[in-house]
Amino acid sequence: NRAGEIDVHDSIQSTLTILAHKFRHKQLTVEKSFASGKPMLHTTGTGLNQVWTNILDNAIDASPEGGKVSIRTWQDEHFLYVGIADQGQGIPEELRDHIFEPFFTTKPVGVGTGLGLDIAHRIVLGQFHGNIHFESQRGKTEFVVQLPLEAPTE
Ligand code: ADP
Ligand code: MG
Repeated sequence: NRAGEIDVHDSIQSTLTILAHKFRHKQLTVEKSFASGKPMLHTTGTGLNQVWTNILDNAIDASPEGGKVSIRTWQDEHFLYVGIADQGQGIPEELRDHIFEPFFTTKPVGVGTGLGLDIAHRIVLGQFHGNIHFESQRGKTEFVVQLPLEAPTE
């Protein structure tokens, strides 16, 4: 890779490696379905890994024991999309407008800080000029990170 460029699939993979013990602890399987090719982003630093970590941490927390976390990437002319899905209970309708707010958490004190999605959202918007969406129902929640392929970052 050239300096200042990151292979998005590599960055997802290295985050998965770091989180492997958490997946193992809940006996979760990870299913990857990556777009062909090597989607590169012009960026430096660790922001992207932080985004995957924060979304994957939530997927792990939400997953039932033995569940599956699915990670898929796909691409169109302008964007790379990364979808991270779990088989948990889903996000209750009345909470959906609040999950990106700082310090919003439904987890016990000391477990959740309520900062994970706030930080991920700010990195994706601020550093990558992208966006994060989610779709949730009982048994399937998917966060989709949309990253512009050519926009300059920094
Ligand atoms: P924390 O994980 O510390 O609670 P986050 O900002 O990462 O903070 O997430 C905020 C809240 O959003 C969580 O407490 C949870 O209620 C909800 N949430 C996030 N991801 C998921 C998910 N995959 N399934 C269900 N709820 C989720
Ligand atoms: Mg979190």
